Amino acid sequence: MSDAPESGFSLELGEDLARTRDWLHEFVASVIRPAGAEWDEREETPWPVLEEAAKIGLYSLDFYTQQYLEPSGLGIPVVFEELFWGDAGIGMSLVGSTLAALSVVANGTPEQVGEWCPQMFGGPGDVKLGAFCSSEPEAGSDVAAIRTRATYDAATREWVLNGVKTWATNGGIADVHVVVASVDPSLGSRGQASFVVPPGTAGLSMGQKFRKHGIRASHTAEVVLSDARIPERCVLGGRDRLEERLARIREGGRAGEQAAMRTFEASRPGVAAMAVGIARAAAEYAAEYATRRVQFGRPIGQNQAVAFMLADMAAAVDAARLLTWRAAWMARQGRPFLRAEGSMSKLVAGETAVRVTEQAIQILGGNGYTRDFPVERWHRDAKIFTIFEGTSEIQRLIIGRAITGLDVR
Ligand SMILES: Cc1cc2nc3c(=O)[nH]c(=O)nc-3n(C[C@H](O)[C@H](O)[C@H](O)COP(=O)(O)OP(=O)(O)OC[C@H]3O[C@@H](n4cnc5c(N)ncnc54)[C@H](O)[C@@H]3O)c2cc1C
Repeated sequence: MSDAPESGFSLELGEDLARTRDWLHEFVASVIRPAGAEWDEREETPWPVLEEAAKIGLYSLDFYTQQYLEPSGLGIPVVFEELFWGDAGIGMSLVGSTLAALSVVANGTPEQVGEWCPQMFGGPGDVKLGAFCSSEPEAGSDVAAIRTRATYDAATREWVLNGVKTWATNGGIADVHVVVASVDPSLGSRGQASFVVPPGTAGLSMGQKFRKHGIRASHTAEVVLSDARIPERCVLGGRDRLEERLARIREGGRAGEQAAMRTFEASRPGVAAMAVGIARAAAEYAAEYATRRVQFGRPIGQNQAVAFMLADMAAAVDAARLLTWRAAWMARQGRPFLRAEGSMSKLVAGETAVRVTEQAIQILGGNGYTRDFPVERWHRDAKIFTIFEGTSEIQRLIIGRAITGLDVR
C-alpha cells in the first residue's frame, strides 16, 4: 500500500481479484497456452481442457457468478483477459456458455436462473455447455429481422419453435440453448422473446458446423428448430409478463429494450477483455522476440522502426484495457452507458487486437507467418472481435447515435 492520501480513485485490483488472476494465470500458462496450437488444428471443442478447468473450479457456474458479482466490476474483464491471453479458441470454449447464462440472467426470473444456468456448466466428470442463438441467415447485424417463430399451443401449454439459427457458439452440442424468436412478427423486434430449449428437446438439431478462420477450438454451427416443443415456463421472464409487454406495445406504449440487445449490452466489456488478452499476448511475444532476434549485429528491437511499433502496441493494449475496465466498472455501478461506453470498449479492443497481432507477425518476419509460432494464430483469432457481438461498424453506429442524438444509419 502506498502512503499517498486517499484519492477516491484507484486502478488497483482488490486483493481477492489479484489472487484470482495469479491463480488463473498459472493454469492458463501451463495448461491452456500449450494446448492452443493442437486444438486450433483439430478444430474441435477441447473437452479434456474443459474437464481440467472444471476440476480446478474454473469452468463452473460458481466461479463465473463470483466474477460477475465482484464489487469493482473488474472480475470478468480480468478473468477473460487472462484466458484469452492463453488461447482464444480454448478461451471461447470456456466462456461460450456464459453468453447463454447472461441472457437468462438478463431476461429470466430468479427461478429460471436457478433451473437453467447450472445445466449450462455441469461439473467435473459431467461438463455441460450452453448456447445463445440469436443470429440467423437473414438476421445478423439486423436483429429485428429474426424470422424464427414461437407460437403458443394452448391445448398442450407448450411453445412451438420453428426456424434456423446460425453462427451459434456451442450450437447443437450444448445442453441448453437459449433461442431468440418472434412471438408477434407484426411488432418487429419488439415482438421478440427469448426461450430456453431444455436438453434433449426433439426438433432441435445441429445444421452445418462452420470451418473457421480463427477461434477454431470453439464450435460454431447452425441450429435447426423444426416444431421444437418446449414447456410454457421456458419463455424467459414468464408468459404473463410477455403477454403484458406485448399488449402494452400493441396499445402504443413503451417498448422496452429488445431481449437480444440487453444480452449484448451486458456482455460487451467482457468481449472487449477477450480481445485485450489476445493483443497483450501478441505485444509481449513480439517484444520478447525483438530482444533476441539479431540482424545487422544487433537485436532488431534496437531499431526505432521496431521499437516504435512495440511502443504503439503496448500503448494500444493498455488503452483498450482502460476503456474495458471503465465500461465494466460503470456496468457494475449501474451507470447507464450514455455515451455507449460498452460499445467503445468493444470497438477499440477488437480493432486493437487485429492491429497488434498483425504488427507482431511483422516483427517476427518469416517466422511470424508460419504455424511454428503462435502469432499467425492469434491474428486469425483476433479478427472475430471486429465481427461478432456487433461488428465494428455497428459499434460505431451505436456510439455515433449516442453522442449525436441523431438517428445515424
Ligand atoms: C465465430 C462466430 C461466433 C458467433 N457466435 C454467435 C453466437 O453464439 N450467437 C449468435 O447469436 N451469433 C453469433 N455470431 C454471429 C455474429 O454476431 C454475426 O456474425 C454478426 O452479428 C454479424 O452478422 P452477419 O455475419 O450476418 O454480418 P452482416 O450483418 O451481414 O454484416 C456484413 C457487413 O455489413 C456491415 N453492416 C451491416 N449493417 C450495417 C449498417 N447498418 N451500417 C454499417 N455497416 C453495416 C457489417 O458491419 C459487416 O461489415 C457468431 C459469429 C461468428 C463468426
